[in-house]
Amino acid sequence: MYQNTLEFAKQKDEQDELKLFRNRFHHPVINGKPTVYFTGNSLGLQPVTAKEYIQVELEDWAQWGVEGHFHGRNPWFSYHELLTEKMANVVGCKPMETVVMGSLSTNVHLLMVSFYRPERKRTKIICEAKAFPSDQYILETQVKFHGLNPEQEIIEISPREGEELIHEEDILRAIKETGDELALVMIGGVNYYTGQLFDMKTIAASGHAVGAKVGFDLAHAAGNINLQLHDWDVDFAAWCTYKYLNSGPGGVSGIFIHERHATNKDLVRFGGWWGQDKETRFLMEKGFDPIPTAEGWQHSNAPIMLMAPLNASLDLFEEAGMEAIGKKRDDMTAYLEFIINDIKSEKVEFELITPTDKTKRGAQLSIAAKGQGKKLFDTLTERNVIADWREPNVIRIAPAPLYNSYEDCWNFGQILRESIQ
Ligand SMILES: *Cc1c(COP(=O)(O)O)cnc(C)c1O
Repeated sequence: MYQNTLEFAKQKDEQDELKLFRNRFHHPVINGKPTVYFTGNSLGLQPVTAKEYIQVELEDWAQWGVEGHFHGRNPWFSYHELLTEKMANVVGCKPMETVVMGSLSTNVHLLMVSFYRPERKRTKIICEAKAFPSDQYILETQVKFHGLNPEQEIIEISPREGEELIHEEDILRAIKETGDELALVMIGGVNYYTGQLFDMKTIAASGHAVGAKVGFDLAHAAGNINLQLHDWDVDFAAWCTYKYLNSGPGGVSGIFIHERHATNKDLVRFGGWWGQDKETRFLMEKGFDPIPTAEGWQHSNAPIMLMAPLNASLDLFEEAGMEAIGKKRDDMTAYLEFIINDIKSEKVEFELITPTDKTKRGAQLSIAAKGQGKKLFDTLTERNVIADWREPNVIRIAPAPLYNSYEDCWNFGQILRESIQ
């Protein structure tokens, strides 16, 4: 079905209905040469319009000063609302269930304040082994914050002996076995290391069956996976927007809080004035009365300069639509997988550890290069492949449907072949 030839790759690009989006991003040129940029899972490329969107806010600030909060072209008072519906379309939820705010790790802490409430024997957390380090530190320090012992309270689900991927049934069994001692399931929706996508709907149902809350870190899923957070009945989630959502370094984060919790004003939380009911926010009076939507978790007034480039990127997502993005993601990732498998080497043993089933992964492929992985990675880098190295031996690559091409995949294969020879 696929062919590892330039001609075939070009033909695929010709037929690609999203092909014109490639020109709407800046593509890095390093040492005077174009790159194969496969690191959209770490820092997405800059939308060409990002500069304009920021420029508008700089101009309004210059012209209006503080009055820009109400008189700017996009009044800052409600700027975050410009992003809400577009973000809801990306993660599959109702607009009232999501808001763009803060940063990812901080948001996970804040959401755990609401959703990790250890009580009597219900104190345990289930997570995946080898979670992203920040997530590990968050869980550890949250447990300590409640005066409990992380070693006793955190149950990590590992791949089985000699394997790289986690069996989902092992997560479900652990949930069942932990039963009424389980307070929270908190997992990365897509594992950052292997690219494994978890069945969030089944995990949420299984957690709820034993009375636990279920949340996901969607750093590697937002803008990558076709999420349906509302329908999957997830309790809460958070993600960053600088990976697949192209908002720029240190970009602002997004949160999801299921409607049934978002409307519950009594749900415990750490409050701030931006979460306060809009009618009374500026009365500066006592008594926290949260907005009965995800906005009720906001703290500070919006970081406009971080939201502007995100707004530029979300407009591209709106235009393309997650459905078309998902379709190209599956096909292009499968093509890249085909090319990698087509290249065999006697010198460097490498294998793909990402699931081969496209319903169990997004755009990312993780290549385990045994022996001289780092050397191979460095050679790729010298030849202008921008990929990502993770200890101990994984090269992560992710073709992004909006700006990568089938020709990029073919090029990568050529460079990989040269690099291992
Ligand atoms: C990228 C990533 C983070 C980064 O957190 P920040 O607070 O944005 O620095 C956290 N968790 C996961 C799973 C990630 O992939």
